[in-house]
Amino acid sequence: MIYIIGSGIAGLSAAISLKMSNYPVTVITKRIHGGSSYESRGGIAAATAPDDSPELHARDTIAVGDGLCDVKSVDYFTREAPGVIETLEKWGFEFDEDLRLEAGHSRRRVHHRTDSTGMFLANFLLELATKLGINIVEDRVVALKVRDNAVKGFVTAGGVSVEDVDSVILATGGYAYLWSYTSNPRDNTGDSIALAFRAGAVVGDLEFVQFHPTVTIVGGESFLLTETLRGEGAVLINDRGERFAFKYHEKGELAPRDVLSRAIYNEYRLGRRVYMDLKPIDDFEVKFPLVNEFLRRHGLTKNDLIPVVPGAHYSIGGVRVNIKGESTIRGLYVIGEAADTGLHGANRLASNSLLEALVMGINMPFYIGEGWEGPDLSDGEVLGIKLPGNGREVSLEEIRKFNWDYLGIVRDGDGLSRLVSIYEGAYLMGFDEWSNAALVSYLTAKAALMREESRGSHYRVDYPEKDDARFRRRIYLRVVGHD
Ligand code: FAD
Repeated sequence: MIYIIGSGIAGLSAAISLKMSNYPVTVITKRIHGGSSYESRGGIAAATAPDDSPELHARDTIAVGDGLCDVKSVDYFTREAPGVIETLEKWGFEFDEDLRLEAGHSRRRVHHRTDSTGMFLANFLLELATKLGINIVEDRVVALKVRDNAVKGFVTAGGVSVEDVDSVILATGGYAYLWSYTSNPRDNTGDSIALAFRAGAVVGDLEFVQFHPTVTIVGGESFLLTETLRGEGAVLINDRGERFAFKYHEKGELAPRDVLSRAIYNEYRLGRRVYMDLKPIDDFEVKFPLVNEFLRRHGLTKNDLIPVVPGAHYSIGGVRVNIKGESTIRGLYVIGEAADTGLHGANRLASNSLLEALVMGINMPFYIGEGWEGPDLSDGEVLGIKLPGNGREVSLEEIRKFNWDYLGIVRDGDGLSRLVSIYEGAYLMGFDEWSNAALVSYLTAKAALMREESRGSHYRVDYPEKDDARFRRRIYLRVVGHD
């Protein structure tokens, strides 16, 4: 039996593809309809238009990745992309006919279904998995069993203990829920990164967390206001009525994500509040049905000013794997947002993450059980981390606030050092979500403190420049024991 942990787009596509190749599979997931996949909007990048090519897609990916993309990964994923669209269509999924253009892409290559691609696709995959008779169980994996650096099984919160397996596939998503303001659902607490790290796997690129400039929180519900709203004319104003974005970048509201996120963050630091004004958008209700429905649910219309904050959106780092999903622990595959393949470098090109999840999931039958290679770590330095054996309990809410304050959009050495000591005083060896969250946050803070430069999504106010000589390399972390 092959166990797949997580039922997002990565886990479900792997389960379906393996089952179609006659592998017996079981999916174990914290929440069947959980994870970022159901929330994702824009779509899947793939060079299928006549004026496009995988080479152009690769060039755009590398430009956004700011010097840290793994070129072999970029080459692989961009070449595999058109095949993924073909496979999904062969399975019966229908995309809208037009291709969308998104920031950073030099061609129209985003395959989508209205403005809710992820929801449509995840529901479609879930239905297909059910039709194929795939067993999907709701439970939370809390620890991996590893002997002689090979995975042997796992334990769940529901008391299941699995032994003597050759392969486990982790597809548990990222850790972007661990900031007070986020576009991510509650499921994304970085569980498998903590589990795999404790079991001895190498993790990498954790300091790179992408923030989305415009998340709104209304009536306790957080919701992403997609970039296309600004592309279609929405503007940002502060509580003095000033259209401030041009103060920070010549492109105003269409500035790159990280610049705009820092601009909004700075307005808040100056004591301002920030809103999106949707009135300039023509045919808003037709173009943005999902946003319109969200507003209506909260008694708002496009004529109201919508409060916005930047929120943690996508975790670039994760368990280090090669393009096949092989981690440094034999038999332990990690796919989707939980994985670190180096595709995104220091910053992710929009719509490349669903692509990465699908390529890894769909191609799993080619790799599972074949000769094991593991990832190449020669593009970085592996640092040993000794974990404190004891410590206090910290709640998820405390963690999210600490991370927002010290590990957010703008970072500095003093804040990061303070955060590292806070987490050194926390209990990092537990089975609870908060303990996993504290461990992932600790490792992220450590890596962010070490990276004394600003690159991609990582911005240090005390080191505002990029430093290729010292830091054009990855920071890898591995456990070397505990007190
Ligand atoms: P997820 O979809 O996050 O699924 C993780 C699964 O693991 C869930 O089922 C969860 O319940 C389960 N799980 C977690 N922990 C455990 C555990 N311990 N035990 C068992 N199960 C566990 N990307 C794009 O490419 N294009 C877009 O347009 C786009 N838009 C986005 C919009 C929003 C609002 C958000 C939040 C993200 C967006 N992304 C987009 C990113 C993209 O959605 C994610 O990277 C992708 O869906 C990740 O898929 P996944 O299967 O790896 O993880």
